[in-house]
Amino acid sequence: MKQMNAEIIAVGTELLLGQIANTNAQWISEQLAINGINVFYHGVVGDNLTRVKDMFEIAGERSDVVIVTGGLGPTDDDLTREAFQFISGLKMIEHKPSMDYIEAYFNKINSIMTPNNRKQARVFEGATVINNTVGMAPGMIIHYNDTTWVFLPGVPREMKSMMLDGVLPYLNKTFKQDEVIKSYVLRFIGIGESQLEHELKEIINKQQNPTIAPLAQNNGVVIRLTAKAKSEESAFQLLNQARDTILAIVGNYYYGTNEETLEQVIISKLKDKQLMIASAESLTGGKFIEKLISVPGASEVTRGSIVCYDTSVKRDVLKISDEMLQSKGTISSECALEMSKNVATLLNASIGISFTGLAGPEPLEGKPVGTVYISVYIKNTKHIVQKFEFSGTRDGIRHRAVLKGYEILLNLLK
Ligand code: ATP
Repeated sequence: MKQMNAEIIAVGTELLLGQIANTNAQWISEQLAINGINVFYHGVVGDNLTRVKDMFEIAGERSDVVIVTGGLGPTDDDLTREAFQFISGLKMIEHKPSMDYIEAYFNKINSIMTPNNRKQARVFEGATVINNTVGMAPGMIIHYNDTTWVFLPGVPREMKSMMLDGVLPYLNKTFKQDEVIKSYVLRFIGIGESQLEHELKEIINKQQNPTIAPLAQNNGVVIRLTAKAKSEESAFQLLNQARDTILAIVGNYYYGTNEETLEQVIISKLKDKQLMIASAESLTGGKFIEKLISVPGASEVTRGSIVCYDTSVKRDVLKISDEMLQSKGTISSECALEMSKNVATLLNASIGISFTGLAGPEPLEGKPVGTVYISVYIKNTKHIVQKFEFSGTRDGIRHRAVLKGYEILLNLLK
């Protein structure tokens, strides 16, 4: 297999001004990594012909594959094509199917096409054209001076679909005819990245195929397994073996594979056990139930939520006893316990989960910012409460509370 080193260049002054983040580079890097392609450089350059040209010259010297995003649009500051033409001397021609597509698009929206839109249909002679099914400017793949150049629009939606449908299959076919690459993402909750890495240290160090990469994410930790093999079947065999070895060690924290989310897993467990859930949410303000309801089929197992931010709502709607509120306060295990039980009773659910605490910035009821109580009531089975001290911003604390709620539920439903 020929090893190739890739470089990603994002063209756009907005990126340099900090008006948008270079999420294209991040996403493309991730995709190339999954496909076993090394990325050695990321570059960002503004809409300036000389500087784009300079950047291209350097990239062409040092990289086998250069992926450029942005600057393919109709306006004068879209000058990616011009810059590449300058260094390559390649001829540009109008790509008829793309031009027809652009004209049809303007007809469809009943709008007059201004002449500068023709510019978007120009491609380099001999280029492999990648159709843009979500926008207008087509992408291109061109071999020039031993380097494979890929040009894609800057709009993330367009870029992503063209990478997945056109570019990655092309690169895999051209550079790795004899191998397939497959990967799994294993998802964990309740364990930090460093602990996971520590537990798996020996196998991570020993293992080369599949490679094992732990990665902290907003919603827990993931391990990405990437295997190379002669056939799809043997790649999956390698992946399955590595997965089994990993889960034998840290399986307690595992909840799903690939795109599976915590909330999907919770919904399916609730369905299996024929349980109905409701939440009483103070500091989380409905964030817990919102995530759950975003899963299709949530209605079969979700009753609803009482967002009881103010004490009067806890008392008048959720029927938390005044006496307890007076003696223990709203940020207490007693209040959390009553909240989870009352919401289940009031909303006729078999499980109630509650969140009460302090997201900050000011301390309250003598409790430090980040103090959170989460309680789960399972009718006739369990009634538990746990106290946490989260750190971070107001939003961070609220996010961590919701995530912890999901983790507690998952463990109770296992
Ligand atoms: P089009 O063909 O649709 O005109 P283009 O190739 O001209 O696209 P740009 O004009 O450079 O692309 O960018 C279009 C929009 O795409 C930008 O306003 C920005 O919102 C987004 N975008 C561009 N580059 C990036 C990037 N590197 N990361 C994330 N978003 C980007």
